[in-house]
Amino acid sequence: MEEGTGINTVLPNLGDKSRVLDVKPIRFLVPQFPDASNGPPFFCAPPNGPFPSGFSPFPPFSGPQGSQSTPGLNRHEFCSTAVPIRSFRAEPIDSNCQNVHKEKPSGSSSIKKKAKKRKVFEFAFTAPTDFNPGISLSERDNGNRELVENVLSRFDALRRKLSQMEDASQSHSGIIKHSVLKASNIMMSNGVRTNAVKRIGVVPGVEIGDIFFFRLELCLVGLHAQTMAGIDPMPMKGDLEGERVAVSIVSAGGYDDDVKDPDVLVYTGHGGNASGDKGASDQKLVRGNLALERSLHRANEVRVIRGFQDSAHQASKVYVYDGIYKVQESWMEKGKTGCNMFKYKLVRIPGQRGAFATWKMIQKWKECLSPRDGLILPDLTSGTESTPVSLVNEVDDEKGPAHFTYLSTIKYPKSFKLLQPSFCCSCCDVCQPGNSICTCFKKNGGYLPYTSYGNLVCRKPLIYECGSSCPCLQNCKNRVTQTGFKVHFEVFKTRDRGWGLRSWDPIRAGSFICEYAGEVVDNTDAKPDGGDVESNEYAFHTNRVYEPFKWNYEAEIVGEGSSNTSEDYDIPSPLVISSKNSGNVARFMNHSCSPNVFWQPVMYEYNNEVLLHIAFFAKRHIPPMTELTYDYGIPFSDEKESNNVDYGKKKCLCGSAKCRGCSRVNLMPFQAELTSYRKLETIYGMSFRSCSFACPRLCR
Ligand SMILES: [Zn+2]
Ligand SMILES: [Zn+2]
Ligand SMILES: [Zn+2]
Ligand SMILES: [Zn+2]
Repeated sequence: MEEGTGINTVLPNLGDKSRVLDVKPIRFLVPQFPDASNGPPFFCAPPNGPFPSGFSPFPPFSGPQGSQSTPGLNRHEFCSTAVPIRSFRAEPIDSNCQNVHKEKPSGSSSIKKKAKKRKVFEFAFTAPTDFNPGISLSERDNGNRELVENVLSRFDALRRKLSQMEDASQSHSGIIKHSVLKASNIMMSNGVRTNAVKRIGVVPGVEIGDIFFFRLELCLVGLHAQTMAGIDPMPMKGDLEGERVAVSIVSAGGYDDDVKDPDVLVYTGHGGNASGDKGASDQKLVRGNLALERSLHRANEVRVIRGFQDSAHQASKVYVYDGIYKVQESWMEKGKTGCNMFKYKLVRIPGQRGAFATWKMIQKWKECLSPRDGLILPDLTSGTESTPVSLVNEVDDEKGPAHFTYLSTIKYPKSFKLLQPSFCCSCCDVCQPGNSICTCFKKNGGYLPYTSYGNLVCRKPLIYECGSSCPCLQNCKNRVTQTGFKVHFEVFKTRDRGWGLRSWDPIRAGSFICEYAGEVVDNTDAKPDGGDVESNEYAFHTNRVYEPFKWNYEAEIVGEGSSNTSEDYDIPSPLVISSKNSGNVARFMNHSCSPNVFWQPVMYEYNNEVLLHIAFFAKRHIPPMTELTYDYGIPFSDEKESNNVDYGKKKCLCGSAKCRGCSRVNLMPFQAELTSYRKLETIYGMSFRSCSFACPRLCR
């Protein structure tokens, strides 16, 4: 019944694709906010409006479903400073604003058949930019896993940054945020996207179960090209030239859809719904509805994306890609308004891994409607944490990990002196983003380091949070890592790597996961835990060799210098934390060479001691029940073993395609030369690189 809410609704009177908004070129995308005299450059509105007078949304965000007509571009108009996103199906435009057609470069044969002559959006961008997206034209058309992750990661990094800048400038005004639109505009305009060729069936690099927090993310990776409409149609070729079938649908309902069987979706057609003072009318067999009807007869594969309310943020949605379905039946029935509605029954093709079914199952566990199989303990923290942590074993008979004491934070062995006498700010209530006199923000480069949802904006040498001497309250947004974790974790037995950690809840990129709790190993303590620190598998070390990776936004894409975006940690002195005897959930996180979690040093004052903490954040969006992993780093071996290169001593079981194969390498003989990972590669003949784009440092 979800579609009655307007996700499918086609906006009336939005066919004017030539309309161009007065948007500044990319170089000027430092915060510039609407000026009443210029009209609204961007704004957010519900998908089906209402829009303020004088505004119509961007053509690709709004065009009537399936409209194939080439926009009647006026040369002069199009060469203005505006940056419309004519992302899908628009005629390509060359630098002289002439329409151009390009042949699609060779790809897989199935794709060739479907789209011989592609139509690609080639910038409508006049700002001089030498930005290199690092994505070739053929990669833009046809992606893979690495590209999909690359695009999503870069989009979210930019979105977080724009959101941070907006928060800082708008904290006291009611102006609606537009960082999502702005970020996707910049991405599209600069060619940072993939799978731009529309296709039926599987989208290369997008996996079943992948999650998204914005509809625009679906567009950027080619999963669903409509930013608002729920049905994405595609014209067929051959004898059915021009006839359109549905290639994907977004069902943006909730758990109370008709979902007794998670493999069946009854989808309501678009149009005809009553909204506001308008009366309801019968739905018509046009556009998306017609495409779905044709898909029923053609029996083509239809991708299904299910949307839910994000339980962490009531105003947001989360979308899960649920795989391939086929339309099995369609009928018309009377809706609550008494008008006719189209219904389409879609059935999931068997043999695909569960995605929506997993969400349904978790929902039942949470509501105690069905028991969690293999549950040993409902909360292994015994109430120490505000959110319970389940202990589960579905693999064998082991009744739990070896005994340890649950500790929720880091424990230093002795008092640490206050490093800086005035470590606190003087803000009352909460530190407001944009408050230029907050000394805690000043330490972070002038900004609150988190978005309003508490997501880390950028990795930084060190993050300074408000501490116990700051007069601000506990709910100050600059205390993200001190307020405990927010997701329902589960410590579970893995098949081959002991115990692991995963979450029942979806996790956004940049979310705080947990800190590394445990006892700080004092350098003067010879043998903590009665053993060698390096051989203690429950230990965290800041001074190992970590693979570099780029996570922050690309400064050049917003016309900034790169000086503010260093991702190199700057820690006052190396820190080793042992969680062997006491620790929190972090001690169960396994290593991966392609991790989904990273660590970030965070400092704050507590009882006049300024202490360093290690906080973990999500590297990307993490679907529920996905194991959480981070890079343990490569330890330096003891000098006494230096004659013997320690390659492959301890086999890594991370299973990643980029696995380095071992977790311990003797680097001592080369320590002085450790200037680059390239050098390490030469020495060891194995890949130390994982950066897939624009790594400014070691990977080039
Ligand atoms: Zn403050
Ligand atoms: Zn504060
Ligand atoms: Zn403060
Ligand atoms: Zn590995």
